[in-house]
Amino acid sequence: MAYFINDECISCGACESECPVSCISEGDGKYVIDADECIECGACAGVCPVGAPNPAE
Ligand code: SF4
Ligand code: SF4
Repeated sequence: MAYFINDECISCGACESECPVSCISEGDGKYVIDADECIECGACAGVCPVGAPNPAE
């Protein structure tokens, strides 16, 4: 399990520098999380203005 950034992402970049394992990067139209690196800390969800990062189902 890992966090996943949904289509609500507005590519503001706020989450990228908050991730303790640096697994967030800018993708095509939205930011993306490397699921193999994510430790599910929730920091990205805490800073996102639109609630785009959520635990994957
Ligand atoms: Fe990074 Fe934590 Fe978000 Fe996973 S939950 S992408 S480790 S900030
Ligand atoms: Fe996208 Fe939210 Fe990250 Fe900004 S903080 S880049 S809106 S996921």
